[in-house]
Amino acid sequence: SSSQAMNFGKSRARFQMEAKTGVKFDDVAGVEEAKEELQEVVTFLKQPERFTAVGARIPKGVLLVGPPGTGKTLLAKAIAGEASVPFFSISGSEFVEMFVGVGASRVRDLFKKAKENAPCLIFIDEIDAVGRQRGAGIGGGNDEREQTLNQLLTEMDGFEGNTGIIIIAATNRPDVLDAALLRPGRFDRQVIVDAPDLKGRLEILQVHARNKKIDESVSLDAIARRTPGFTGADLANLLNEAAILTARRRKDAITILEINDAVDRVVAGMEGTPLVDSKIKRLIGYHEVGYAIVGTLLKDHDPVQKVSLIPRGQSRGLTWFTPDEEHFLMSRSQLKARITAVLGGRAAEEVIFGLPEVTGGMRENRKLEYATSIARQMVTQYGMSEIGQFSLESPNSEVFLGRDWMNKSEYSEEIASQIDRKVREIVSQCYDTAKRLIQENRTLVDHLVETLIEQETIDGEQFRQIVSEHQDKQIADAAT
Ligand code: ADP
Repeated sequence: SSSQAMNFGKSRARFQMEAKTGVKFDDVAGVEEAKEELQEVVTFLKQPERFTAVGARIPKGVLLVGPPGTGKTLLAKAIAGEASVPFFSISGSEFVEMFVGVGASRVRDLFKKAKENAPCLIFIDEIDAVGRQRGAGIGGGNDEREQTLNQLLTEMDGFEGNTGIIIIAATNRPDVLDAALLRPGRFDRQVIVDAPDLKGRLEILQVHARNKKIDESVSLDAIARRTPGFTGADLANLLNEAAILTARRRKDAITILEINDAVDRVVAGMEGTPLVDSKIKRLIGYHEVGYAIVGTLLKDHDPVQKVSLIPRGQSRGLTWFTPDEEHFLMSRSQLKARITAVLGGRAAEEVIFGLPEVTGGMRENRKLEYATSIARQMVTQYGMSEIGQFSLESPNSEVFLGRDWMNKSEYSEEIASQIDRKVREIVSQCYDTAKRLIQENRTLVDHLVETLIEQETIDGEQFRQIVSEHQDKQIADAAT
């Protein structure tokens, strides 16, 4: 069509270049580890001779891995800014549905321009769009995409590491990438850029509050506590929305009223396409309600804030709790409550649909890992078991999703297997508790799932109200 033809015409210059990004590491917050790792890339660009003098091969490519809006583009710009080099960028998604040959020639042009401007940084956003495993497309390969990918590989191999070009690519799906991309001399370094935790959110809010007038009565800390699950982009958006509302209301400074309205707007904007398939909806409904109800029935658990069927990112449904404090020293019963609740979704699926239906998926595996890591923490760090009332772990280490944070070499094989046995025991006890709670409250669970499917979301207050009405009715029924 003619619009495609126009795209074709413009395509030869379809990458961006910024001579100076003006972004510094100080502008990126809540991702300290990533910043530390990337600091060295700045040195590669600024003082390559420091490495080449001793015969070190400077890496060419770094892969930033993390969900959208966590600051991957911002980090790449900060590297260029800190090193005072030009920033070239292109998005993998732009290669999709182009005429054969266009993507490859665009890649060639990009590297040609980059070489003319070295030292410089090339940023490839959404590299998975072009870098998927070759021959894996629907109905075989996608010629255009594969040609583009081959060209990218050729270009990366075609220059020396000390040419002064560093390529940073971003993706949320490292698992689908063609293995050739990850070989030595290509994107052989990976840096994780995770969604921020409480402290990270506060730091990001502080960065974005710098250029805004915020009333003294507003506590950024309180906002950070209210926004679990928000990415850096969500938080930037939140403060910007609040500033717009403030201007519209002709106020001098942002108050909590504008913040509240802005939180609602940002949350509304996050909502993806509602689920359509009713069977899947039911399955996810039971999963989410299972998590929320188990958490609610255990008195040592944080209160549920929201249960939602609206997909976001890679997760299909979403339930979240308001943590009283994100502290690490919790009592034994609090830790157990957390494990039990985390397993509540899986337990509900098993009770309702039977074992074979229990869904796997990445998020579910992470939940199981998370539950296991808490149990491990109970056993090793807090000495909460018969293995001994001593700590096998430094008190400062944190429970991290899916990270093996134990230093296994510090104790013997025998203790290690005792720990494993104890961890499994705690997890399975908690799972049994979760299942029992679901079974004992089956009518309530069914009712909550119906409500959830109808409304798509249930906020914490309504959730607790439904639970307490149900409990009152049970007491009344028992009395008659
Ligand atoms: P990604 O590339 O991971 O999708 P971006 O870097 O494009 O995310 O983030 C979009 C915007 O959100 C940034 O320009 C910035 O304003 C804000 N932002 C995201 N993450 C952070 C962060 N870690 N610190 C500060 N601001 C952030």
